[in-house]
Amino acid sequence: MNGLLDEVAVLTVPAIESETCSLNNYLAQPDDTMDARIAEARLKLGTDIVLLGHHYQRDEVIRFADYTGDSYKLSKVAAETSAKYMLFCGVHFMAETADVLGQSWQQVILPDLNAGCSMADMAEIGQVQDCWDSLERQGVGGASGLIPLTYMNSAAAIKAFCGERGGLVCTSSNARGAFEWAFARGEKILFLPDQHLGRNTAYAMGISLHEMVVWDPYQINGGVSLDRLKAAKVILWKGHCSVHQRFLPEHVDRVRREEPGMQVIVHPECRWEVCQKADAVGSTERIIEVIERAPVGSSFAVGTEIHLVNRLMKRFAPLGKRVITLDDAGCLCTTMYRISPQHLAWAMENLVEGRVVNHIKVDATVKQWAKVALDRMLEVQV
Ligand code: SF4
Repeated sequence: MNGLLDEVAVLTVPAIESETCSLNNYLAQPDDTMDARIAEARLKLGTDIVLLGHHYQRDEVIRFADYTGDSYKLSKVAAETSAKYMLFCGVHFMAETADVLGQSWQQVILPDLNAGCSMADMAEIGQVQDCWDSLERQGVGGASGLIPLTYMNSAAAIKAFCGERGGLVCTSSNARGAFEWAFARGEKILFLPDQHLGRNTAYAMGISLHEMVVWDPYQINGGVSLDRLKAAKVILWKGHCSVHQRFLPEHVDRVRREEPGMQVIVHPECRWEVCQKADAVGSTERIIEVIERAPVGSSFAVGTEIHLVNRLMKRFAPLGKRVITLDDAGCLCTTMYRISPQHLAWAMENLVEGRVVNHIKVDATVKQWAKVALDRMLEVQV
């Protein structure tokens, strides 16, 4: 996906005179001039539209959301809403998930098609199929009970791959439950695409690092010997979040040194070494909950995306709780950041005029199997 797609989408709409069809007209305007336009479009669309906002969105966007949450919470809203249009202020895989879980008459819109996820892009369906075939040839898959499990942060095709082969999807909220689900049905897990979430979850369940291997799709046989593949309980795909991987053990050491008494809480997409040094590890929903429940006077260094950390900082300061970012630079998800008030206004005003722009539609066969994997996920306890 690139900016060209937006242009193509514009150019292929025939005979439209209104300026609402051109995204460039919006992008040339300052952020604050969009507020009244978004509010007005929101009013006109009424219950036809629901706005879903991921925690990592910037303030200028998330304040318009009807529901905010992590990908687990938002996928549940998508499965239950009766709105005709779901406008997803998040990234591409989230919009795909909403399309899979929504009804056939509902339409999902991603305000900027460039809002992807670098982690999701690290597992391409052809690579995953090659890995699976290779494992089966070596007697590691198939009858030996290999269950494919993918993190929500993956393309719909990967979710479908898992659903079709007896596997499921998980989020950072219910990864442990999903691992338990899989181990109740097989001996081994192929975990896609985030090696860190997979490693942190398995380790917390008592699986040692020696019982995990990392499959590198750019190496012959994943770069792993047959002996190690056979002995492994978890095969981790070599993917990561470029935002959370930037948190380092030395960031925790610095907080310990400079801020005695401060608790360190990190997202499970962080490296194992960071999670081991932290006081708590949890999804964004869990991070929020921990801070909400903490007594006045508590302080936290949080290892997750900077927009959420800044929002928590502002929200809890008047309540006597201090929140800072774990690193000193502040890790930003640049793809989430692509959703701007201008994109929001553009998508909504087009809807008001009866045009659906940036419609995210998953192929029917992919959708069928991805839904199987997602429905299994929704059954798993958080
Ligand atoms: S924070 Fe990481 S995993 Fe989440 S959308 Fe951004 S790149 Fe993807």
